[in-house]
Amino acid sequence: MTDTPASTQVPRRLAPGRIVLASHNPGKLREFDALMAPFGYDVVSAGSLDLPEPEETGTTFEANAELKARAAAEVSGLPALADDSGFCVAALDGDPGVYSARWAGPEKDFAMAMRTIEEKLQAAGATAPENRRSSFVAVLCLAWPDGHVEMFRGEVDGTAVWPPRGSGGFGYDPMFQPDGESRTFGEMPTAEKQGMSHRALAFADFSARCLEG
Ligand code: IMP
Repeated sequence: MTDTPASTQVPRRLAPGRIVLASHNPGKLREFDALMAPFGYDVVSAGSLDLPEPEETGTTFEANAELKARAAAEVSGLPALADDSGFCVAALDGDPGVYSARWAGPEKDFAMAMRTIEEKLQAAGATAPENRRSSFVAVLCLAWPDGHVEMFRGEVDGTAVWPPRGSGGFGYDPMFQPDGESRTFGEMPTAEKQGMSHRALAFADFSARCLEG
């Protein structure tokens, strides 16, 4: 790290070539490979290189993305990209946030996780839409083997609705209505949601600042 304010630092660009995706999720690998192959990058997964999965001990999306990216870059000797994301509800102090996956338990029961959010909102008296502000956040971290990191963030703001609506998407999508929309993410066709999602925004920032071509 330097003492130069982040806003005045010139981002380091990523030379085309091999890059590790610090994830064992085949869906994420396909998504990032499709996004990066046209720029001349060859995306390999941490799983295919047998890299260990570090425990996500951070309390922010940035911290978790950084610890995953750094671990993969150190062990592989290649630039590594990691992401971390979640659903944040303002009236719950940003919960479930970095714990979004954990709130669904080992069964990945997101109907239960959404019910938990609703119960907590009711207990807090947050029934009017203006008291149910929420957002999806995605952070990407790109780490080089020499320890340099770059961070990219995407955020979509909206309202936590009840009951959940729609059967598309995954996770908390049926409970989230983005600003300016009458549908939840769960009611949108996949391509439409993916085009406006927090991940798309984070990736657009990453691609504008770091990718060549
Ligand atoms: P991770 O970034 O893979 O650790 O995922 C964190 C968790 O955040 C997921 O398991 C979901 O619960 C939630 N999440 C992240 N992005 C989305 C989304 O686009 N829709 C719904 N839930 C999401």
